[in-house]
Amino acid sequence: MAKITVDVSTCVGCGLCEQACPDVFKVEGDGIAHVILQICTSCDIKEVAQQCPVNAIKVSE
Ligand code: SF4
Repeated sequence: MAKITVDVSTCVGCGLCEQACPDVFKVEGDGIAHVILQICTSCDIKEVAQQCPVNAIKVSE
C-alpha cells in the first residue's frame, strides 16, 4: 500500500491538496496539510502530489 506523507518543513498550506482530496488531506490550524487518511478511492493520489506547488507530498509504494 502506498504511504502518503507531507513534508511539514516544505508545505506552505496553500490548501490545494485538501481541495483535490479532502478525504486524505486536511490543512489544520497550524497551517500545514496533514494526512488524515492513507487510502483514497476517489482520486489519483500521485496526481494530487504532482499538483503541490512546493512538492511537499510524497507517495511511496
Ligand atoms: S498542496 Fe502542498 S503546499 Fe499546498 S497544502 Fe498541500 S502539501 Fe501543503
